[in-house]
Amino acid sequence: MDLLIKNCVHAGYGKVVDIGVSNGRVVAIGSLNPRADTVVDARGCLVLESFVIPHLHLCKAYTLDVVGLEAVKLYRDNHMSNSSKSVEYAAKVKKHYTVDWVLNNARRALDECWKHGVTHIRAFGDVDSQAGLEAVKALLKLKQQYRDRILVQVVAFPQQGLFTDPDSFELLWKAMELGCDVVGGIPWLEKTEEEMEKHVKHVFDVAAAFDRDVAMLTDDAGNPDLRTTEMLCVETLRRGWVGRVAACHARALGLYPPERIERLAALMRGAGVSLVSSPHTGSLWAPIKQLIQSGVNVALGQDDINDAYYPFGRGKMLEVAFLAAHLLNMMGPGDMEALIKMVTVNAAEAIGLKSHRLEPGSPASFVILPCRTLLEALAHQPDPVYVVANGQLHELGCSKI
Ligand SMILES: [Zn+2]
Repeated sequence: MDLLIKNCVHAGYGKVVDIGVSNGRVVAIGSLNPRADTVVDARGCLVLESFVIPHLHLCKAYTLDVVGLEAVKLYRDNHMSNSSKSVEYAAKVKKHYTVDWVLNNARRALDECWKHGVTHIRAFGDVDSQAGLEAVKALLKLKQQYRDRILVQVVAFPQQGLFTDPDSFELLWKAMELGCDVVGGIPWLEKTEEEMEKHVKHVFDVAAAFDRDVAMLTDDAGNPDLRTTEMLCVETLRRGWVGRVAACHARALGLYPPERIERLAALMRGAGVSLVSSPHTGSLWAPIKQLIQSGVNVALGQDDINDAYYPFGRGKMLEVAFLAAHLLNMMGPGDMEALIKMVTVNAAEAIGLKSHRLEPGSPASFVILPCRTLLEALAHQPDPVYVVANGQLHELGCSKI
């Protein structure tokens, strides 16, 4: 074997095990004594699947100084009823967009994420009349530079809408030609329901032309009349894109009556549409517990790091899960497991990685944390001592076992 981790607590197995890695994959879990090139004694520490960020506005990281806290207030106030205005307000950051400017900010964010055990990120890069293609060009460069540690999926994201910013139609296509991995959308921002539906259809047209997955920001305002999550599911089924689509935010669902959520959950389940929620970045959020109970794949995203929508954030998914535990009132039996899943395996599934599980046969991407239990991991949010990224061992050395 290439790597043998001895004496770690595997939460799923509920006991101390050894983990063997060969050719980038987990090949055995149990009581093992094979020859290995590298042997690490984890001394009873917790091992988890590595952290996955299924939604991050990476091109905006560390831009709060440019727009100020007024932007954050505008997004959150009045039960999120001004959020479309805040998108316009926040756009002033984009006059600074050059490849190098975005690159420096985004690199700083990726270094933070890595320190906290993140190995996969779905990164949204704005493409619109103000941002041009600068953001996605920067993110595509970073994707190459970080590929040995963090696998970055770049989403071409028309942040200002399509019909509300018509240059974005062509820019979205060009961004996909540059090599973006995922087609993004934001249909709820359009002015009429008809344009919202056309927006969804157009994004799928692009996805079909390039054979790419889809990730859209849906219903991100305090308005129960919004129904772009539903439109997204209907189009997913119509195009045969089942299992390849994620809805991010969907905050208006928090205002839907329970029976309407039940119907939408059945639609999401049938379309294999994941929900990526970030309750900490707004004052309203989707009813996550009800959606989980209804069998929808729900994940948590970091969403923002120090930008016009959220002043905090450091790419630490244990912190995101900790905040969610409070906001969603998830502190009962089974909740620690559910919270951790939403930042590891569920987050991976939301970005199309179905085999991100710490079990034999899966790609070896996991973290060793200096604690014993999931509850301790959430309570203290320790940084990992070791990260195994695609079979390669990295000693971070920030914390000691
Ligand atoms: Zn977002």
